Amino acid sequence: MILREYIEEKIKNTTKHFKFGSVNVHQVDDSMDFTPVFKEIEKHFPSHYFKDLGGVEIAHRKEFDDRDISAFYKDDWLYITDKQDDLADLMDDLVHEMAHHIEVVYGDIIYSDGEIEKEFLLKRKRLESELKAEGYWTQEYDFKDLTYNRSLDNFLYKRVGPNMLKLTTASDFVRPYASISLREYFATGFEAYYLGKKDLLFKLCPVLYNKIDELHNL
Ligand SMILES: [Zn+2]
Repeated sequence: MILREYIEEKIKNTTKHFKFGSVNVHQVDDSMDFTPVFKEIEKHFPSHYFKDLGGVEIAHRKEFDDRDISAFYKDDWLYITDKQDDLADLMDDLVHEMAHHIEVVYGDIIYSDGEIEKEFLLKRKRLESELKAEGYWTQEYDFKDLTYNRSLDNFLYKRVGPNMLKLTTASDFVRPYASISLREYFATGFEAYYLGKKDLLFKLCPVLYNKIDELHNL
């Protein structure tokens, strides 16, 4: 058997397939049993969350190392690394990337009234004021930009740094990463809602909380 055939044969043999809601999960290396995570999350998601979802791939891809990430959502598919510290990490990744899918499918419902945007921008404004009060020079960064902005990301994570960012976002965001863009504000809120921080989300981000509640009960 030539090497290529051997590898293809091996992939075929070790790929595990199972269902997550109405879609298929392909786990290329079956050495760890990830099914409990999918079964658990499935119980909490209404069936309309799976609308237009292509599937889930669990495998380690080069992009994960290149971009220092563990999961991403692309063209209706969820891609998650199998290099997980524990099942809780996988659960975070799965719920987070599902949020990005739901944002695509139900974008109108989520954003068309502009309320989440308003809530987010008010928090961004307070973040900028707090950072200024701490002595940071914020003028050259656009705190009103809703999309991912690399220079703002570098400023927050490298100049301000994780510890100060944590302090200055604690009273407004469920976690520091929620401040990075409107999309991540939604995705981190969605995580909080489904992963045991509902009360915190309700307290800090009532508009976002109500929107996710609405989505859940569509
Ligand atoms: Zn994200």
